[in-house]
Amino acid sequence: MEQGRRRVVLVPYPLQGHLTPMLQLGALLHRRGFSITLAHTRFNSPNTSHYPHFHFLPLSDNLDGVDTSFHNLLNVMAAMNANCQPSFQEHMVQMLETEDVACVIYDNIMTFVDVVATRLKLPTILLRTTAAAYMHSHLVLFHLTAHKRLPLPESEVELPVPNLHPLRFKDLPVQATQKLPEPVRQFLLSYMSIRSSAAVIWNTIETLDQWPLQQLQQQWPVPFFTIGPLHKMAPPLPTSLMEEDAFCLLWLNKRPPNSVIYVSLGSVATINQEELREMAWGLAKSDHPFLWVVRPSLLNGSSDAIESLPADFKDMIPERGLVVDWAPQRKVLEHPAVGGFFSHCGWNSTLESLCGGVPMICRPCFADQMVNARYLTHVWKVGVELESVVEKSVEGAIRTLMGSDCGRGMRERAMRMKLEIERSVGRGGSSSESLHHLVKFVASL
Ligand code: UDP
Repeated sequence: MEQGRRRVVLVPYPLQGHLTPMLQLGALLHRRGFSITLAHTRFNSPNTSHYPHFHFLPLSDNLDGVDTSFHNLLNVMAAMNANCQPSFQEHMVQMLETEDVACVIYDNIMTFVDVVATRLKLPTILLRTTAAAYMHSHLVLFHLTAHKRLPLPESEVELPVPNLHPLRFKDLPVQATQKLPEPVRQFLLSYMSIRSSAAVIWNTIETLDQWPLQQLQQQWPVPFFTIGPLHKMAPPLPTSLMEEDAFCLLWLNKRPPNSVIYVSLGSVATINQEELREMAWGLAKSDHPFLWVVRPSLLNGSSDAIESLPADFKDMIPERGLVVDWAPQRKVLEHPAVGGFFSHCGWNSTLESLCGGVPMICRPCFADQMVNARYLTHVWKVGVELESVVEKSVEGAIRTLMGSDCGRGMRERAMRMKLEIERSVGRGGSSSESLHHLVKFVASL
């Protein structure tokens, strides 16, 4: 035990987009004087050697042999919550015999934490890894369902959701045309609950997410700490579950400023063979150098997406671009050669792009990505919306973003947002101040 430090236990949900901000929060709290324990599943367990200051508690998730692919996630979450609870409780009971534990900070999907913490009379705090705007859209979803406004016919999905600018019905977290299946409804109710949490930490920026934060604050009357973007607040630390291809930074060094389009659909989204081909040819025909992350699981039903790229496209890659399994994305988005980001609009990717001052082509797939994409294209106006992944639209969107007056306008606004975010994380900025209050709050528990 580190002398004189109170301990904070962190429980992340083990997908990349959730694990990363929790690790960053841990590094930040460690720097502010707390001892950190990370209780983690064996599935997607972090590389513990990267975090010598953390203590680790492996939880028995019993997920060996379970299908952990995206379509089975609800079942995986249920199994994880049931299976991890006993070992978490056992570890915590032991820890409390010798340690002064201030609180447990957990990802909202790891609901077993609340059960154990309540039993052991330990305070908990939630870490929300998405934008408040996305969480708020759930409240509206439930309201519309209760008032029989949903489900609605396909012909109405493009209509704006009343009082929820800039969202259309099709941007809501679930399909607006279908009755919510009961397991999904149960999951969303749990997802929208803060249970017995003493506070909520947000990986967002107050000025970007103000109105939704205010709406949620009325619903959840506990302190909110808005301390994002965590990757800018925390000391730099490796967080990737996959090995990063460092060569792409050398490759970028040889490209002129703002010339490269970076393409990545994050860690979970998948596409089909046709979309893979259309993306490939859209990139090829755009006449801009590209850096494309084709992670092995990107293609539905395959474990080697690069292998499935069209042969004639693969032949021309060396002259025109670079294709990698996994990139050091935060560094890529801060590289001066990168002029645009073709993204699925996950919240981490969105924040990382805004911090790099990089405008985006938005191709959302599911969950919060549609909400993020609408904010990027219609509120912050730093993104082009890609309606469908066909060669012509991909090529057109890249040309617009990288070479038109409209694209230049987006880049200028993105640069202004980068500066605004730098002010938030700098001395006296909203995220720095909120962190200061969080540290005092945790110490007071
Ligand atoms: N990422 C990365 N290298 C890649 C692709 C993604 O490091 O080649 C990281 C990215 O920087 C981000 C995370 O993976 O922090 C993806 O999180 P996000 O919320 O954007 O999307 P998700 O993967 O949850 O859909």
